Amino acid sequence: MKIAIIGAGVIGLNIAWDLRSAGADVEVLEAGTVGDSASAVNAGWVTPSLSTPLASPGIVGQGIRHMFDRDGALVFRPQPDTQWMKWLWNFSRAARPKVYERGVKALLGLNRQTMDLFDELEDDGVQFEMRRAGILALALQPGGLGWFRQLFDELVPLGFTGGIDYLSPAEAHALDPAAGAHVAEAARTTLDRFVDPDGLIQGLLARVTDMGVAVHQNRPVQAMRKNGHGWVISTPSGELSADQVIVALGAATNKVLSSVGVSLPIIGARGYSVELTGRGTPPKHAFYLMESKLGLSPFERGVRIAGVFELPGGEGPVPQRRLDQLLEQTKPYLGDWIPDAATVTKGRGGLRPATPDSLPFIGPVPDHEGLFVAAGHGMLGVTLAPATARAMRSMVMDRSIPEHALPFQLAGRV
Ligand SMILES: Cc1cc2nc3c(=O)[nH]c(=O)nc-3n(C[C@H](O)[C@H](O)[C@H](O)COP(=O)(O)OP(=O)(O)OC[C@H]3O[C@@H](n4cnc5c(N)ncnc54)[C@H](O)[C@@H]3O)c2cc1C
Repeated sequence: MKIAIIGAGVIGLNIAWDLRSAGADVEVLEAGTVGDSASAVNAGWVTPSLSTPLASPGIVGQGIRHMFDRDGALVFRPQPDTQWMKWLWNFSRAARPKVYERGVKALLGLNRQTMDLFDELEDDGVQFEMRRAGILALALQPGGLGWFRQLFDELVPLGFTGGIDYLSPAEAHALDPAAGAHVAEAARTTLDRFVDPDGLIQGLLARVTDMGVAVHQNRPVQAMRKNGHGWVISTPSGELSADQVIVALGAATNKVLSSVGVSLPIIGARGYSVELTGRGTPPKHAFYLMESKLGLSPFERGVRIAGVFELPGGEGPVPQRRLDQLLEQTKPYLGDWIPDAATVTKGRGGLRPATPDSLPFIGPVPDHEGLFVAAGHGMLGVTLAPATARAMRSMVMDRSIPEHALPFQLAGRV
């Protein structure tokens, strides 16, 4: 039985690895080059601690306040587009306390295996940089850790098992000298890790290729159609047949799904990242910068700063002001590590596939036998990729939906 995966981002490649590990005959079709999407632009956090829906009580007010601030960390752009208006309406509905709580529980359930599955990737020989130091949240203002504390207070009764250590500024600096003298409050999450996102997808690409998976790059899929019991996939260089198809196209999912008359509420939310070298003691932890809402991850190659959530996100050139802002808003938090560059010259933008309730779609497409979707992972694609892939394995190979994957089904959500 041949399974075609469309899209070689972190989701598609993890699924390829998981299905191939279980003995499936897998082929991957990628429009561009592996590593040229959101999956390489991100901060690389593997963070069950921060796996909560963006649509949360109070968020709509914040979004509206920042609607006209083009430099805000969270930007909702008013646009006369019915798909976007509908998305926004559903987002505001998803921010109701009960729906938010259901979303938190669903993500906790999906994340239960996350760390074991990352270990499995490493044990299998997928080569990538992974650090287990946790995330250090830093606030410049007294009380700046407010929502972080509140988040943990809410998560624990819902079944979250990770820990958090609250630190004085001196303790934070002793733990990580790159945390600066202006830090007023700090906390370290104990469970979280971070990975080099470029390394992860290149490592997956190398490993799945080694395992016999054909990954066809520069092979954009234009459409799909049912053919008897299987599927025919059209690309500019010819057609391919497969018994089952998994669409893992992130923010581009609807472009291909529309060929079978299906549309999911997934909108691209643009974010940016830059990578810098520096002098002094580099950070040991990933930093969450509370006031600026940016993430910083120290990789062997350099320190990455990532953030901003612009909805709906465009695809034009990355604005220089956004890149400079990433650096400027990071500096006040830094101690013994000083970036080499005063300004940033190279940065990247990527589209997070955002759903109104922040839950991805992982499952069969109703009324389309043999067609599956794994998309809409929003801010959490790296974190949720291995668990998504393991759930997809059960659905595709055993025709069984694991209980923890039920909240992510398409049926009833579209
Ligand atoms: C600034 C930023 C920071 C982030 N930080 C984190 C983080 O710290 N932790 C975390 O868990 N998540 C983070 N994310 C989110 C994460 O990056 C995404 O959720 C994830 O990359 C989505 O992966 P994907 O494989 O679904 O989509 P993509 O990475 O977009 O991959 C989809 C692939 O499909 C291909 N494609 C598109 N159209 C076609 C077609 N017609 N035919 C064939 N192929 C096609 C694309 O070229 C692409 O390679 C961040 C995102 C951003 C932007």
